[in-house]
Amino acid sequence: MNRPFEIVVVGAGITGLTAAALLAHSRHRDQMNIAVVDAGKRPTFDRSNDIALRVSAIASGSVGILASIDVWKSIEDQRACPYRDMRVWDACGYVDGPDTLRFEAAEFGVAELGFIVENKLIQSALLQDLDSLDQPVDYETPIRSLVRMDNRFRVEVADGKSLPADLVVGADGAGSLVRKSSDISIDAWRYPQSAFVTHLRPERNHQHTAWQRFLQSGPIALLPLLDGRVSVVWSTSPEQAELAIAASDDELSDMLSEATDSVLGRLTPAGPRASFPLKAQHANHYVLPGLALIGDAAHAVHPLAGQGANLGLADAARLVSVIDEAIGNDEHPGDLPVLRRYERSRKGANKTMLYFLDGLNRLFSSESSSVAKFRGRGMRLFNRSGPIRQHAVHIALGLNAR
Ligand SMILES: Cc1cc2nc3c(=O)[nH]c(=O)nc-3n(C[C@H](O)[C@H](O)[C@H](O)COP(=O)(O)OP(=O)(O)OC[C@H]3O[C@@H](n4cnc5c(N)ncnc54)[C@H](O)[C@@H]3O)c2cc1C
Repeated sequence: MNRPFEIVVVGAGITGLTAAALLAHSRHRDQMNIAVVDAGKRPTFDRSNDIALRVSAIASGSVGILASIDVWKSIEDQRACPYRDMRVWDACGYVDGPDTLRFEAAEFGVAELGFIVENKLIQSALLQDLDSLDQPVDYETPIRSLVRMDNRFRVEVADGKSLPADLVVGADGAGSLVRKSSDISIDAWRYPQSAFVTHLRPERNHQHTAWQRFLQSGPIALLPLLDGRVSVVWSTSPEQAELAIAASDDELSDMLSEATDSVLGRLTPAGPRASFPLKAQHANHYVLPGLALIGDAAHAVHPLAGQGANLGLADAARLVSVIDEAIGNDEHPGDLPVLRRYERSRKGANKTMLYFLDGLNRLFSSESSSVAKFRGRGMRLFNRSGPIRQHAVHIALGLNAR
């Protein structure tokens, strides 16, 4: 093929921008025309503003992906809070009890388990990188549909433009129009939970530790921020999340201090509040001829272990390495056998994580006292399980994806 391959990335969230930046840095960049479109406004990041509400725990594996294109340094230089320890405990026990899961970076030979980073900062650093490579990203450009033409798709954009594509990369989030327009079915279910999020000032130092307590209504996590505050993600009943949104500062402080068993002392609200309904979903196919889904467009997982964005980054990295290798071997990057290589390496891993997180959420929500005993025994066993523990933590840190 003499003309460049037309690659259209739909969606410029964390996943789509990572895919676009990796493509723009790839060895065979000169053989691709890359278009990136997004329905929303271009996100901006200003360090002099307060830490944004939406933050993500970015695991070591994702740091490695962003570092491979020199984007990580700019993120770290601006505002990323390392967390070196993690404590996970059951409301039936206590944080220093024998059943508590403890993970320390040193134990796994890494300087930190990950970083808490504002989503907007990740996007803005990726955009700066794309700007420096003269790769445009067209914001406020929603797509309306995909039209199948033989083995390829044409992307119809809202302004009437139409983009012929050798490969469409669907990174347009959980409600993906790329997925719906191409008739890829999903397995999906809603959790009877919403995630309440805000920033809090803790009475005690957060110790660069990610704290997570499992309550019957769902887990509550306190994630360290660089200025000493913590970001709370409280997966709880939608009614409780609404109460938390409407509560006075004192009421919210009581609610959250109690829900976290005062592990960091009294928690004082110190930021805006929001809540998100929670669901799990998984696409039954990630690829078709001329099309690949990545990130939340392919899978949405429970936020209890902070894995969603990390899985998306791993998808983006794998897809781009498959595309780059294929072009190097004179294969067409939109051909099904090529795209199946990406699907084979990510679909099973993502599905396993999705069901594992779903199972954990159910296990800890059980009211049965025998299940609570079983949980405690399981957590103690896991703590002493050597290789299983190592393996599980490597997966959670995304170290296997590199
Ligand atoms: C409360 C909460 C806490 C979380 N915490 C963590 C965490 O700690 N760590 C972690 O790894 N993950 C976390 N996640 C998950 C994480 O936020 C998501 O997995 C991740 O943001 C998904 O990124 P994405 O780019 O795939 O999708 P999205 O962020 O949804 O981006 C999709 C993009 O596509 C665009 N788009 C949509 N439709 C169209 C269209 N028709 N045309 C053009 N563009 C379109 C949108 O404008 C958007 O920019 C959390 C989630 C929640 C709800």
